[in-house]
Amino acid sequence: MKTCNKCNIAKEFSEFHKRTIRGKVGLQYSCKVCQNKYNKLYRQDIRPAYWNSKDGYFSIKDNWKYIEDYNRADKAIKVYLMKIKEFFYIGYTKARINVRLNTHRADYYSKSRGKLPGLHNVWDTMSEDEIKESINSTIVLQTKKGTRYEAEKLEKKWIKRYLKQGYNLLNRQHNR
Ligand SMILES: [Zn+2]
Repeated sequence: MKTCNKCNIAKEFSEFHKRTIRGKVGLQYSCKVCQNKYNKLYRQDIRPAYWNSKDGYFSIKDNWKYIEDYNRADKAIKVYLMKIKEFFYIGYTKARINVRLNTHRADYYSKSRGKLPGLHNVWDTMSEDEIKESINSTIVLQTKKGTRYEAEKLEKKWIKRYLKQGYNLLNRQHNR
């Protein structure tokens, strides 16, 4: 038996689709019923034909720039603060902040789920609207040019500062 991470019902192993990660075969986190529901949502809403159609996502010049920016390595570091219920999460990105927030959202709804347990465990207790609201609450604390190494140092500095002020940070629950 295995408990589905979506409906929280313990089901037979055969009720879960298989997945392969680095050659190892395991089972999906969600049961077939929940997975199928998600796949339908994904096809309809999250990744519609919109992305690739003639007047879709990639037809807009600005969107190409987003991706360009995202791929460029020497961009400014953005340290950001997100409010999640009574908790906070500090992160950094070298991408545009909205690109990073979209990957947060995508990670949570995909197989990278659980990569940030502190954050994801609280999101698990929230509705989709509340999650959206928490993502939209994000503010940029600091912007600075620098390497990834400097970004990590900068992020640590902000984490320390906020912990000192008594903020309830979810960062401590992550393996970094
Ligand atoms: Zn399920």
